[in-house]
Amino acid sequence: MDFPIDAIVLRLEHEVSSYQVPIVDLIATQTKDPFKVLVATILSARTKDEVTAEAARRLFARASTPTELAQIPRQELEQLIYPVGFFRNKAQYLNQLPGVLAQHFGGVVPNTIEALLELPGVGRKTANLVVAVAFNKPAICVDTHVHRIMNIWGYVQTRTPLETEMALRDKLPRRYWIRINGLLVAFGQGCCTPLRPQCDRCVVADLCPKIGVVPRQVREHKKTEVNMDGLRLVSWNVNGLRAALKNGFTEAVALLCPDVLALQEIKVHPDQLHEAESLLPGYEGFWFPAQKKGYSGTAVFSKKSPLQVFYGLGDARFDDEGRVLTLEFADYFLVNSYSPNAQPELKRLDYKESFNQALLAFISGLGTRKSVLLCGDLNVAHNEIDLANPKANTKNPGFSVEERAWMDRFVEAGFVDTFRQFNQDPGQYTWWSYRFNARAKNIGWRIDYFLVDGSSGQRVVEASIHSDIAGSDHCPVSVVFR
Ligand code: SF4
Repeated sequence: MDFPIDAIVLRLEHEVSSYQVPIVDLIATQTKDPFKVLVATILSARTKDEVTAEAARRLFARASTPTELAQIPRQELEQLIYPVGFFRNKAQYLNQLPGVLAQHFGGVVPNTIEALLELPGVGRKTANLVVAVAFNKPAICVDTHVHRIMNIWGYVQTRTPLETEMALRDKLPRRYWIRINGLLVAFGQGCCTPLRPQCDRCVVADLCPKIGVVPRQVREHKKTEVNMDGLRLVSWNVNGLRAALKNGFTEAVALLCPDVLALQEIKVHPDQLHEAESLLPGYEGFWFPAQKKGYSGTAVFSKKSPLQVFYGLGDARFDDEGRVLTLEFADYFLVNSYSPNAQPELKRLDYKESFNQALLAFISGLGTRKSVLLCGDLNVAHNEIDLANPKANTKNPGFSVEERAWMDRFVEAGFVDTFRQFNQDPGQYTWWSYRFNARAKNIGWRIDYFLVDGSSGQRVVEASIHSDIAGSDHCPVSVVFR
């Protein structure tokens, strides 16, 4: 039987219309400017779309033409585009770009693959993408998602993106050439993800042979108001709730079925969400956004109303960033914390240590009254077993001696790392960089926790990491508590 490519493309067009538009397509649509498309495409390689978007915005505010780009020193370029992947190399390419355009192409971006390949930092993928989206000429850009998904479908049997491009040139109807990359990048980020694709909710599942795929596992949780075998508490750094909502957040919550859901790094004020009130039907929501929009912030959703809610630690240095949100229930406190990142060169270590000191004092005080569960992204891997490359990270934020010593202090104060009560295996991570395909290779860190006060350790009967759930660069972690 012929592969039903028309039916699949039709369904996917409909499906991804609600997904995040890949950044290069967005810039092409908004600007119709080949120079900006070229620059954004160079920036986007091995970089998360949100990071590319911010870097492109900063750069285009300074330079929107090759002539203006030529005026920016390389060091400043590095600062403007940081933290895109390989930012130093990319700054060098951008620094050379205006000269090469002037010398060989009259100062304008060429519109053929062969000519584009002569530009610094431009490979075949970039050249194809620029030709397709900036000039609307037939070209097939083969991103890693296109290569991967086309092979999952068995539409091609290839080993490299270049082989995929050549195979698609032979068989993919020309009407899909320009569009296929944007379509499969969005689909590959939102549903057919590299690690554990979401086949259970995929609109083309009935047409897909799923070659070489291990789909995510869908657990059946009891949908009772309160689990009879204990409360299921889930913590998740969503790295931007609006982005997570476009990437399966609601479906993930339905699968996890938490009694209480603690979110970190929401990066949104509830008034910026149309659906804030009805975001999770059946739950009462409590929001503690940062003063600064688009940054930090915490929220908790609970099926049962708490007795009290505490917003912050009573210290504006931390409370302005919406870092700690606490719900008091009849027999326990849930403290949801988004602990600060110590930042490269540990520039924010002092701030983080002050935060840890205030947090430990706060939860120790609560612990004299009833059980305390501290959950959230604590932004530190405690021991070598908790990250893939401990030796290489001893001076890096998240695994510095000072930060690990603070985790020791929480333990010395009687708090128990619940996950390690049940699991001593290596390779158990909750965060993976978006770079270098780290999640697919499981090069990660365990920096999301549930800690419980020592006298309540027996009340935690299960602790889990849900690494099969995508939607953020962190995955959810959970405990069952009774
Ligand atoms: S069924 Fe699974 S493997 Fe196939 S396209 Fe859908 S998500 Fe990908």
